Amino acid sequence: SVQNLLALNWKMNKTPAEARAWAEELSEKLAADKPELAVMAPAVALPALAAHLPPGVTVGAQDVSAHEAGAYTGEISAAMLVDVGARYVVVGHSERREYHGETDADVAAKARQAQANGLMPIVCVGEGLDVREKGEQVPHTLAQLSGSLDGVGPEVVVAYEPVWAIGTGKTATADDAEELAAAIRTALRERYGSEAQHIRILYGGSVKPDNIASICAQPNVNGALVGGASLKVPDVLGMVDALQ
Ligand code: 13P
Repeated sequence: SVQNLLALNWKMNKTPAEARAWAEELSEKLAADKPELAVMAPAVALPALAAHLPPGVTVGAQDVSAHEAGAYTGEISAAMLVDVGARYVVVGHSERREYHGETDADVAAKARQAQANGLMPIVCVGEGLDVREKGEQVPHTLAQLSGSLDGVGPEVVVAYEPVWAIGTGKTATADDAEELAAAIRTALRERYGSEAQHIRILYGGSVKPDNIASICAQPNVNGALVGGASLKVPDVLGMVDALQ
């Protein structure tokens, strides 16, 4: 199976100066033996992070333009992110779907653009509370996944983030996470064949030091995408320890 990925999503937090201080604190305290760690930061903080993170810790962005370059005011291209050291980019986070109206087709276009520039997209999917209460989380999430992977190759990470668990302190149980991760694995196998076994499926939603181990021990869960608990270095070290 594949190595766990601990992906930190800072969302709209930390200035470049704060990012640098965080990276320096992590460098002092992080043991050499660790899971793969990646920091998804605001784009303006990426140069500071790339310069000050410890060896082996990678960086990524939280969004990318679906376009290559040109008259798209306010957007940031995949090539620009690569140039400042990004290896990953989150696409289709539920906050972008909700507050910026991103559709599955938009998400797929961004993921294709990322891959065309050598960035690994982290494609986010997951149901809201209304869907969960109707018991329709599997078909809902798989439909979202199918649209969001249209034309996207297997060099991808999938993050299952049930919206009701994001920032609420309500974590899915390890069994809930595995139910979706297993369904996603089957869908990836149908799409990509044997390459699907190398694709990491992350769980996100109120992950913390005290629940990460049981979730990531599930057979089809290969890491976590962490919001709130990613902001303070001691919490990150707690999650790193829990994954060892
Ligand atoms: P929280 O860990 O704060 O619930 O956020 C999860 C998330 O949205 C990560 O992308």
